[in-house]
Amino acid sequence: MQENIVWHEHHVDKAQRMQRLKQKPCVLWFTGLSGSGKSTISNAVEGYLFSQNHMTYLLDGDNVRHGLNKDLGFSDGDRVENIRRIGEVSKLFVDAGIIVLSAFISPFRNDREMVRGLLNEGEFVEVFVDTPLAVCESRDPKGLYKKAREGKIPNFTGIDSPYEAPAAPEIHIRTDLYDIETSVKMIIDYLKEKGYLHA
Ligand code: ADP
Repeated sequence: MQENIVWHEHHVDKAQRMQRLKQKPCVLWFTGLSGSGKSTISNAVEGYLFSQNHMTYLLDGDNVRHGLNKDLGFSDGDRVENIRRIGEVSKLFVDAGIIVLSAFISPFRNDREMVRGLLNEGEFVEVFVDTPLAVCESRDPKGLYKKAREGKIPNFTGIDSPYEAPAAPEIHIRTDLYDIETSVKMIIDYLKEKGYLHA
């Protein structure tokens, strides 16, 4: 009889998703100056992981600032809120079993630590894309440093807004020493070594 049918609430949990997806989800949190190589390296890492049948999602400035965070600017307060929301979204993706790649300047140490605090142990992998300001400025892939030097972009990280380097990142990449391929390999090797990528 209809009234005697009991629906069992079956909560699909993270462990089941991990088993199905053959991976341990985490956030690869790329931080570094504009032009340091966050987008380039994170895209290449995602491309490799995807080719190996892993489930990934890349969050970057464009897909977040044009949508979820389009009401936010670049004041200190808005930068904090920008990162907080990205942290919460990353946490949802991790709960879904996905390997998230977040590529944001995220200049403030406290904000990055706040995101680390949202996640479980081992789920936040900080990747410091360490490129000297002078190198970033000479690359200037989007012409932003030139504009910032002309005073056309206020609060530009590295020029008139600070960048606080990570004290103990899980992965430290010096792009003035390593090429893109070597940097990608460093990250993949870390993920393999720490058991994020099941066979
Ligand atoms: P970000 O996302 O940090 O603002 P981008 O990835 O958009 O930086 O730009 C970095 C630029 O530097 C790209 O044009 C890239 O081709 C170049 N580049 C040169 N050498 C490297 C390297 N070793 N690692 C990463 N990017 C490099």
